[in-house]
Amino acid sequence: MSIKVLKFGGSSLADAAQFQKVASIIHADPERRYVVPSAPGKRFSGDRKVTDMLYACYDAIQGGASFAESFADIRERYFDIIRELSLDFDFDALIPDLEKGFAEPDARDFAASRGEFLNGQLLAAYLGIPFVDAADVIFFRPDGRLDEERTYPAVAEIAKKYERAVIPGFYGRAADGRVRTFSRGGSDITGSIVARGVGADLYENWTDVSGFFTADPRIVTNPRVIETISFNELRELSYMGSVVLHEDAVFPVRTVGIPINIKNTNAPEDAGTIIVDASIAPVRAGRVTGIAGKRGFSIITIEKDMMNSEVGFTRRVLSVLEKHNISYEHLPTGIDTLGIVVRTELIEKISETLVKEIYEAAAPDTIEIVPNIALLAVVGRGMVRSKGIAARLLTAIAGADINIRMIDQGSSEMNIIVGVDEADFERAMRGIYVEFFIQ
Ligand code: ASP
Repeated sequence: MSIKVLKFGGSSLADAAQFQKVASIIHADPERRYVVPSAPGKRFSGDRKVTDMLYACYDAIQGGASFAESFADIRERYFDIIRELSLDFDFDALIPDLEKGFAEPDARDFAASRGEFLNGQLLAAYLGIPFVDAADVIFFRPDGRLDEERTYPAVAEIAKKYERAVIPGFYGRAADGRVRTFSRGGSDITGSIVARGVGADLYENWTDVSGFFTADPRIVTNPRVIETISFNELRELSYMGSVVLHEDAVFPVRTVGIPINIKNTNAPEDAGTIIVDASIAPVRAGRVTGIAGKRGFSIITIEKDMMNSEVGFTRRVLSVLEKHNISYEHLPTGIDTLGIVVRTELIEKISETLVKEIYEAAAPDTIEIVPNIALLAVVGRGMVRSKGIAARLLTAIAGADINIRMIDQGSSEMNIIVGVDEADFERAMRGIYVEFFIQ
């Protein structure tokens, strides 16, 4: 029988009604065997995620507040679920260990991880299947990266021992033996690791949207959902601001070719988005897969006569950025100009120093920093070797009466990135969407 690993996000497990949906999704398919839950998320807009409550609780205790008082709201969240599901679960029996853990030095990660730990126990009890603590199967190396040699065999053991299990997301065990979390949203990564470790055929990532959208739904009304996307395209779109999945979540499954299916807990019949390896993703020539974009960039524009024949010029300029630990996003060049696109937040406090040091290092004629740039990425494997995409893109932007500040086509031809003034960002995205998806 093939194996499916399911990760449920915080909104999918925010309250008892959501738990019921999750259980019926799992029961609908016997191949759905290993389940990775997040901590309870927001039940309504303005509500708090349990993970945020745990961080606040930890800070309050550090500031001298009592555990019982600071933890009371969190306890209540779990008790609501227990009561409404009529679960036979002794939550208070877990309190002494929690209190002890919170009191240890540097227990911030431990505190945050309890959201998933407790939700995992509740879900396992509700489903009537074993609970496996992620700290016993997911291990980090001393440098903080995943210890693959220890983790994958330990996860594989779960599949040998149990036909079904719940493994909480978001955390594992550090090299020093303590609990350590991934970055925020990291249950997606746990799901991917578990999928690879148990040798799954599919990793279903259940959330509150029916997949990846072709454009940002906050900007474009009802954008279409992407049916199939390759890992590379997804990486480009996520990097540029399309957030459904944690950007590190693709790596564990990608190397072994396990597809990810983004699904909606509140509309399980929707097909969602399938993320597959580029080699098996169907290509439709001339088609764009999706559009994403972000504000908050600056272009450092550097001019120098005869720059093109000055060997080492770019290296000298970039060495200044390297010294300040600034990574750049794009490097559009002209004959005598060099543009460096960087995130504004990385340079705004040191822009004068940067300008001075670039003058010293490379003696350019002028340097200008242009802030308030937004980047838009048009991504698609169907763009490769297809004529006319760039023309349509630029025409769409011109049609919206928008000036383009920068253009960059990756040499893979799978993406074209344009920079526009932040004030034009939303109009540009709508214009591009209409050109590629409406007509
Ligand atoms: N609960 C954690 C967070 O809120 C991890 C996750 O949900 O993936 O970031």
